Amino acid sequence: MVHEFPDCREMVYETDVLIVGGGSAAMFAAIAAAEEGCTATIVEKGASISSSGNIGSGIDHLQAILNEEPWDTAEEFLGNLVNANEGLIDLEVAAVFVDGIKDIVARLEKMGVPLRDPATGKYRRVAGLGSKHPTVINFAGGEIKPILARAVRSSPSVKIIEETMLLSLLVNDKRVIGGVGFNIKEGSLVVVMAKAVIIASGGVVRHFPVTSGPPFRTHHYPYNTGDGLVMAYLAGAELANMEFAYCSVVPKGFSAPGITGFVGLGAKLINSAGEQYMHKYHPLGENAPRNYIVWGTWKELEAGRGPCYLDCTHLTPEAIRHVEVGIQNEKPLLLEYLKAKGIDVSKQWLEIELQELDQGVTFAVGAGNGLVIDADCATNLEGLYACGDAAYISFAAAGAFVYGFKAGTTAVRYAKKLANVEPVDREQLAAIKSSIYQPLARPDGYTHQEIQERLQAIMARHAGLVRTAEGLKEAVRLLKALKADAEKMKAANYH
Ligand SMILES: Cc1cc2nc3c(=O)[nH]c(=O)nc-3n(C[C@H](O)[C@H](O)[C@H](O)COP(=O)(O)OP(=O)(O)OC[C@H]3O[C@@H](n4cnc5c(N)ncnc54)[C@H](O)[C@@H]3O)c2cc1C
Repeated sequence: MVHEFPDCREMVYETDVLIVGGGSAAMFAAIAAAEEGCTATIVEKGASISSSGNIGSGIDHLQAILNEEPWDTAEEFLGNLVNANEGLIDLEVAAVFVDGIKDIVARLEKMGVPLRDPATGKYRRVAGLGSKHPTVINFAGGEIKPILARAVRSSPSVKIIEETMLLSLLVNDKRVIGGVGFNIKEGSLVVVMAKAVIIASGGVVRHFPVTSGPPFRTHHYPYNTGDGLVMAYLAGAELANMEFAYCSVVPKGFSAPGITGFVGLGAKLINSAGEQYMHKYHPLGENAPRNYIVWGTWKELEAGRGPCYLDCTHLTPEAIRHVEVGIQNEKPLLLEYLKAKGIDVSKQWLEIELQELDQGVTFAVGAGNGLVIDADCATNLEGLYACGDAAYISFAAAGAFVYGFKAGTTAVRYAKKLANVEPVDREQLAAIKSSIYQPLARPDGYTHQEIQERLQAIMARHAGLVRTAEGLKEAVRLLKALKADAEKMKAANYH
């Protein structure tokens, strides 16, 4: 049944390119579209593009290939990728990163992102997890998102619609022609008709129980709930590797990145007996790829040799200070958390745990899961592009910038071939509108918290780090029942 909601305000916009999400990838997609002389509209769920997305609280490193050293080449990087990803990577799409990163580094510096060490005027390059060579630029990236947002806001051809959650793509004859969502504060229906659409809505979090407690204290940005993937999939787009999950070791009680920085400078991972365990699981020990670190730590915990700890007590004060500066730029609350708990990592071991699983972020170095894209960031659906953690090849923030710029450029090239945006299909819109607002009209039903808790319980029980065929079949059965109940959800307000 289609309900009418005559009191809801309807806002209809037209644009060359609609960008779903206002995070890292979206900033560069919008910049590229504007440079090509087209209009772009960013729809962002969070309060402001100056702080939304994974880099909202800052970052401390960028993967880069700069051709400055013999190992600093496309061939070396792509060759290593095949091993690191155990062959599971499309090298043609991965090559987009290598081709574009130098330009992005130059653009970031021009905008005022302090990528160089002020003391030397050079990049401070270090080895990332699983890497033989120092391909990562370490920098003070605490302010990177406001800097990018300023650059985007300064362009008159970019419209920014914040506090608005896009929920559905509009499709005409297998061609994507826009999207529909609603403003989470005042409830207006937002319709954006576009010549091309870019999904830049990040990865997927909150479908596994959050290890550190509160549902929003996730490792990655809590608003990235996979909506972009769902809307694209329902429109007919192809997804890949959705069985992969991302995990990391985190300080117990605080699901945040940061401690791998200590590992890079020589910190040890030890079990409750004080035994350094990672060499049992990978020849690189603590410098192994992240998935091995997770696996080794899980094996120790399962074998009853936990709790596991990060031991920094042998590091120099300079090394500890260096990582703390990195954390300050990336997740400053972690330092406050450690202080409040009275933990001084230079004097005592820091207990670690495995974070909740999430998806979309890199699986090893490069390949993740999400929308399948080609080297133009195009999906299999005409008019639909994807980039960043929403795409199946991403390379973290550096990749989000590169593929965002590429998606913006190619989406615009496609949009320029079309004379007009399509008109609104009233029938299609009425059905979407009804499904968006129905929970408000339902006096009885499940709350979104109840549905989320059930989802997290099913995923933790049957689809965690260790899976079995029977467990996965049971998960499918339970998820089908959950889907039926989710259709009976009620809502007390728009947010
Ligand atoms: C704390 C932290 C530190 C990190 N540090 C580094 C680092 O130092 N170096 C590095 O390379 N990488 C780092 N990463 C990873 C990196 O930040 C991400 O890989 C990258 O930012 C992904 O960019 P994105 O644009 O795909 O997603 P995001 O930047 O997360 O943006 C997605 C946006 O989409 C919006 N959105 C989602 N759904 C909807 C919807 N339905 N409607 C409208 N909007 C929607 C979200 O609100 C969000 O703003 C870090 C990540 C975290 C969490």
